[in-house]
Amino acid sequence: MSLDPFPIPDDSGNGRDRPDAAPIDEAEMAKRRRDMVRVQLLGRDIDSVRVLDAMRVVPRHLFVPRDQVSEAYEDRPLAIGMGQTISQPYIVGLMTQRLRPELTDTVLEIGTGCGYQAAVLAALVREVHTVEIHKRLAESAARRLKALGYNNVHVHAGDGWKGWPSDAPYDGIIVTAAPDHVPEALKEQLKVGARLVIPVGNQYQKLMVVTRTEKGFVEESLIDVRFVPMTGGEDEGA
Ligand code: SAH
Repeated sequence: MSLDPFPIPDDSGNGRDRPDAAPIDEAEMAKRRRDMVRVQLLGRDIDSVRVLDAMRVVPRHLFVPRDQVSEAYEDRPLAIGMGQTISQPYIVGLMTQRLRPELTDTVLEIGTGCGYQAAVLAALVREVHTVEIHKRLAESAARRLKALGYNNVHVHAGDGWKGWPSDAPYDGIIVTAAPDHVPEALKEQLKVGARLVIPVGNQYQKLMVVTRTEKGFVEESLIDVRFVPMTGGEDEGA
């Protein structure tokens, strides 16, 4: 996979590809990325070698608006425009690790945002489908992912409450916006044995792992998290 970062289409209004934009020090970014993995991920409870390797490679600083490049590897979420955020690196690592991605998997993400989580998944599985409700964000993420060479990510504009039925069932589903309950469609689109990693709640949420078994669904609650709300239509009849 090519990770040559230029030219990067950028809809942030700051024009990363604008000739007068300050150059990015790629060596410094690579160093910060290694430090991020060592301190924020390994230093906590992220121990999946595959997830650590993926997050050591994906250039997070190319997914944030141009004026936030210098903050891209900090231990917190960042604003990406349109009131949306890119999750804290640790939360991306934790959710990805709990998904237990395998090379042959097809996974679904709800809430593409800038596409960073989708890129991390793309480095780990065969195919990623990701659904974003804001058409402009979907288009900009699709362009960015293509420019960075992530050819196994399919960005769809749509409402994640419905999942993405045409490519279901999935080996795993990750949701990066918070609904107040687990959408039925997402449970239905899991293979038996597959996991749904999802923040559930209102202002604050619990990060949940829902596993589909032969007999039904098993739910596990992890930590408290804070995500932007999942908008769009709710479950029919809910
Ligand atoms: N995973 C993203 C961060 C997502 S922020 C990243 O790595 O950058 C949450 C995103 O979920 C926002 O872009 C928001 O527009 C989107 N979203 C909210 N409700 C949604 C819905 N019903 N369907 C699809 N996307 C939704």
